[in-house]
Amino acid sequence: MKHYNFYISIIIILNFSCVKNTEKDNVSFEASFTGARLDSTRYYVEDDKYIAYINPAFEPVNKSTYYAFAVTSEKEKEIKLELNYGNYKHRYIPKLSFDKKTWKKIEASKIRIDTVYGTATLKLNVSPKKIYVAAQEIETSKDTYNWVDSLLITHSFLKREIAGKTVMQNNNYVVTTNDSLNKAIVLIARQHPPETPGGSIGFKAFYGELLADNKTSNNFRNQYNIIAFPLLNPDGADKGYWRHNANGKDLNRDWIDFSQPETKIVKSYFEDLTSKAINIKFALDFHTSYSGPYLLILDSLNETKTRGVIPKWIKGIESNSQFKVESRRRSQELPYCYNYFFNQLGSEAVTYEDGDEINRDTIRERAKVYARELMKTILSNKANEIEQ
Ligand SMILES: [Zn+2]
Repeated sequence: MKHYNFYISIIIILNFSCVKNTEKDNVSFEASFTGARLDSTRYYVEDDKYIAYINPAFEPVNKSTYYAFAVTSEKEKEIKLELNYGNYKHRYIPKLSFDKKTWKKIEASKIRIDTVYGTATLKLNVSPKKIYVAAQEIETSKDTYNWVDSLLITHSFLKREIAGKTVMQNNNYVVTTNDSLNKAIVLIARQHPPETPGGSIGFKAFYGELLADNKTSNNFRNQYNIIAFPLLNPDGADKGYWRHNANGKDLNRDWIDFSQPETKIVKSYFEDLTSKAINIKFALDFHTSYSGPYLLILDSLNETKTRGVIPKWIKGIESNSQFKVESRRRSQELPYCYNYFFNQLGSEAVTYEDGDEINRDTIRERAKVYARELMKTILSNKANEIEQ
């Protein structure tokens, strides 16, 4: 970056292949854990500033400038730390944690964003106790699969199968509620690794409501199998990729070509189901956007070809909660996951987008309401369906 040419003082550079380390007063940076992303660090003596250089694993890529690393210091103190993304710009407000479970957004007074250079400079309290700094809450494949394991214990009707293998030969799981039913809905989560707000937090709350022990959920599960792919891109989540799978492909642009193992897994799974005359009533694909929350819905032409779950669902959400739904129409020609379900399986489908910095309790509450209203809408649409 041009503006660093002004720093002509001594620069200490220490780079390691696994553990990225910069030391001054024994301040150490670490990026060897699963889900980490940090390329290198430098300390500029003159400015008493650390710079964390963060780059994508693959290009081209959109502005999903994800980072995750840990910092320790021999002495307790406040350091100045610049997040530098090279040709890209800062997007995510840093989340801080001591245990990678409880996260807190950095205080507004502790971050300064340079919109010209696209950097962010933090005032970070460091100490011998390791502090994690990440773009979003870190959710590795192990985290998601441990959560699935806990659901399997508490919900005996759930069945988990290996649907296939990823590029890196990791298992890609599918979880179902009742395979003997001939109608189903589908949930796909986290094709894009940094999108944990909608892709993990929102998805889990939505799924939890579908699995809940109440009249609507029980009635729904008695009629519809719920097919969930809880983490479609585990390689990307574990490697801290900005957007891609381990072949450097954006999975949510691969639902026409099916060039990647992860999308092929889903396609062959549903080809098998449709050959058994299983009807997929609805599909949701969970993401997170800078400008979320919103839903990507069918274009108006195609909406008229369906039974109209989407408009009734949105009306139900807005009538029965404080949430207002922003829906954005997209062409059904785009190679997105939800279009695959509409075009190939005749299902109504949406891309469920939450927002980068939306309060996490709001994300959970919205997901629960949307799930409940979706079940009610599909159940009440049954009468229409029989008439058609
Ligand atoms: Zn996405």
